[in-house]
Amino acid sequence: ATPTSIMVGTGRAAELGVLFRKGQALQTLRNARVIALDKTGTLTKGQPELTDLQVLPEFDENEVLALVAAVEQHSEHPIAEAIVAAATKKKLSLPEPEQFKSHSGLGVSATVEGRQIEVGADRYMKQLGHQLDALADTAEQLAREGKSPLYVVIDGQLAAIIAVADPVKEGTPAAIKALHGLGLKVAMITGDNRHTARAIARQLGIDEVEAEVMPDGKVDALQRLREQHGPVAFVGDGINDAPALAEADVGMAIGTGTDIAIEAAEVVLMSGDLRAVPNALAISRATLRNIR
Ligand code: ADP
Ligand code: MG
Repeated sequence: ATPTSIMVGTGRAAELGVLFRKGQALQTLRNARVIALDKTGTLTKGQPELTDLQVLPEFDENEVLALVAAVEQHSEHPIAEAIVAAATKKKLSLPEPEQFKSHSGLGVSATVEGRQIEVGADRYMKQLGHQLDALADTAEQLAREGKSPLYVVIDGQLAAIIAVADPVKEGTPAAIKALHGLGLKVAMITGDNRHTARAIARQLGIDEVEAEVMPDGKVDALQRLREQHGPVAFVGDGINDAPALAEADVGMAIGTGTDIAIEAAEVVLMSGDLRAVPNALAISRATLRNIR
């Protein structure tokens, strides 16, 4: 492409809220065969709500919620905000936890009023050696509904399942349809439960799912997609997404996301609306067609 046609293309993209930080990306994007997207905060709003709390008979619902929310007060994960909001809504008072620990991609733990609380994904509980049988079917059922299930263990005893659900962004279904219309494969990469991820993918018509990916595993997931399909554009918003944004053939960050993601990306989507992605692709193709 000539410098002029790239200038025109990046100008048109900017009008649609897509900033190409390098003209080169406009040419690379054209060759993408697969668009991989982070789930939380990219495909979904990143503002989950607590939908279910199921406690085993020997535990009290409000007490469990207060203990869990007490721990989650100190986590910055969107899941934590959902749990704290639910406890606050019920006007539960939250004790101050001690020895709070965040286990990236797994869950959180702390001591609250002398009780050891662990909250997180099934793989976290398995790592800790906890028996999950009593609530495993419940967790899977919730996940098949597209909700994210979290196990709660109190003093080494399985106590409850909490589920949170994160609504899909308004523009997401149309964006995926448009990407399919442009002949691309669409993939989701997430740290979330595989049943949850598959349920959401099915609902959206997403072709490929890489689920239960640890924060440092997104790059590997991306490389697998590239081997299978060819050049990959990756869309993400979080700190966790920065390495994958850098690794992708084209990294596209959401402008309302974290600065670290934006810095790692070649393309910035000014709004969170994913319809900007097929728009950017269409512009990249049109730009290169014009100069032939
Ligand atoms: P994602 O960005 O896709 O949510 P993460 O790596 O942040 O992926 O988290 C992966 C999983 O770890 C979550 O789906 C959840 O099961 C568990 N987890 C992470 N943070 C927390 C937390 N603060 N409380 C409970 N569970 C958590
Ligand atoms: Mg995210």
